[in-house]
Amino acid sequence: MQSKKMGFNTICTHYGEIEDTQFQGAISPIYLSTSYAFDNVDTKRYPRYFNTPNQEALCKKIAKLEHGEAALIFGSGMAAVSTTLFAFIKHGDHIVLQRNIYGGTANLVNEEFDKHGIEYTYIDATNAETVSKAIKKNTKVLYIETPSNPLLSVIDIEAIANIGKKHNILTVIDNTFASPVNQNPILMGIDIVIHSATKYLGGHSDILAGAVVASEEHMDTIFQVAKNFGGSLSDFTVWMLERSIKTLGIRVKQQNQNAQEMAEWLQNHSDIDQVYYPGLPSHPDHAIAKKQMRGYGGMLSFELQPGLDASKFQAQLSLIKSSMSLAGVESTILSPTLTSHALLSEQERADQGIKDGLLRFSVGIEEVEDLKQDITAALEVLKKEYA
Ligand SMILES: *Cc1c(COP(=O)(O)O)cnc(C)c1O
Repeated sequence: MQSKKMGFNTICTHYGEIEDTQFQGAISPIYLSTSYAFDNVDTKRYPRYFNTPNQEALCKKIAKLEHGEAALIFGSGMAAVSTTLFAFIKHGDHIVLQRNIYGGTANLVNEEFDKHGIEYTYIDATNAETVSKAIKKNTKVLYIETPSNPLLSVIDIEAIANIGKKHNILTVIDNTFASPVNQNPILMGIDIVIHSATKYLGGHSDILAGAVVASEEHMDTIFQVAKNFGGSLSDFTVWMLERSIKTLGIRVKQQNQNAQEMAEWLQNHSDIDQVYYPGLPSHPDHAIAKKQMRGYGGMLSFELQPGLDASKFQAQLSLIKSSMSLAGVESTILSPTLTSHALLSEQERADQGIKDGLLRFSVGIEEVEDLKQDITAALEVLKKEYA
């Protein structure tokens, strides 16, 4: 089943799968061997070389979903991010990064790059002029993430790709929030796409994994570093991830629809102040999102009206769980100020537009009526107790 004309859900379900020639089973068999008969030095199979049967099969599927030539799967999203960056940046080089990137990526840059003599500049990536100005002679990589966490800012991907091409520097995007369902940055000219597969690709809050998609040439450069860093994913989890991706299309399409309905409902709710969702025409980046995304994703943020306490509201929810991670089939909510962005100073949060009462909502696949009811009930308790 390797036809070029396969649609998205067919790729999710079948592409790259290993045929069970022994028993004609319906799904890919799982190969847990860490030891394989030795053919020759160049082709020997070993899990840390990213070339076991299950790893190779899943890489084909993920590469196909992102319209890239090749993929590698890692033990975490951060293993994918760190291996990719260290594959292309060395001592004396410079990287330009979008300011509001994932906290773990910012920690990698802020805590490790100085030790290795790597220079970095954070910029407002919504402004093409600012991005171009930040590029220096030794700049090797331009790194973005869109939509971003937690305010769902959207960056013009094609504009960033063009800046990269003009200055002959590599463009890298963290495509975790959109997932391949909603946008394919390689089709817009981006060189390398990274995913925390822990999020939408996994989708059930039970897998930690990462993935990178790029050209064969770039992937070979990444592989040469990856085998030394040793961040490959165990084959059992590779197999679970293949199973999860079978439903990626239908899960994320439902999450897109649920998030859009919830965003519109919250925006019209008298107890809610601001709603941040790229699918709302009121979102400052709606026009760019509409241009480059097929769906607006399952993530949104909102603020309660002044006087309503966000922590107390969160504590009253019963169906929507308070949780650090995101993108599962179950709805989760968190306060960026108390969790993901707690290490930033008050000023840094204010600079990024993150208010203390902001809540980040990862919308699941539940019936929206049940989600609305959960929020309504929590608000009623809050207003009764604290009025
Ligand atoms: C979670 C996340 C990561 C890191 O992924 P892990 O699998 O936790 O290592 C990177 N980028 C984004 C946008 C994420 O949400």
